Amino acid sequence: MIRIGIPCRTIDGRYVVNRDYVQALAKAGADSVLILPTSDLSAILPTLQGILIPGGGDVDPTHYEEANTMSDYLDSETDRLDLAVIHAALDLKLPLFGICRGLQIINVALGGSLIQDIPSAIQTTLDHQVSVKSHLAMKGHGIHVVSGSRLANLLPESIEVNSYHHQAIKKLADGLSVSAKADDGIIEAVEGTRILAVQWHPERMTSDPLFQGLFDDFVKRCL
Ligand code: MN
Repeated sequence: MIRIGIPCRTIDGRYVVNRDYVQALAKAGADSVLILPTSDLSAILPTLQGILIPGGGDVDPTHYEEANTMSDYLDSETDRLDLAVIHAALDLKLPLFGICRGLQIINVALGGSLIQDIPSAIQTTLDHQVSVKSHLAMKGHGIHVVSGSRLANLLPESIEVNSYHHQAIKKLADGLSVSAKADDGIIEAVEGTRILAVQWHPERMTSDPLFQGLFDDFVKRCL
């Protein structure tokens, strides 16, 4: 069975993984393996076929050489874990699927930077935290998928996604290309060799086969 590693998050003193990721991967035919800050990566990673970097708090801006102006819920242990897992996965040529913070920290790991707070940084009529406020995981804002991208094989040119983020990619890392944008220019998906990452939360939209399809495609790429 395909085994996908997921670095944990820390909430209220507990190491956790959100059930939605585990269930979406299970529906795609893969088992999930929780990776802890104490885990021996050199022992675990070679037993895995892919890595999913999930959502979470903001990345400490020191990792992209900026002062903290608007970043929140920083956790140095989680940053260290995610960065170590991403670099180890790249070394081992394991496919990476990044979601929300996962997209952001993959971009940082590869040398990119982040907009620390979208509403303070750009003029936009879109609310990228609309799903946080509405609690409607199937509603958010439209995106445009770049034609010719790998994502374009999975999603139509124009589709609505949820939106739970206040940060986004500023400088795109070398090795990544944009696969989708919102109307205001915010990058909503990127891809690279063995990498696909999305800014929204498809694991909360798996009742739509198109969004479950992102997990199915990822697991297929891990075979
Ligand atoms: Mn958004």
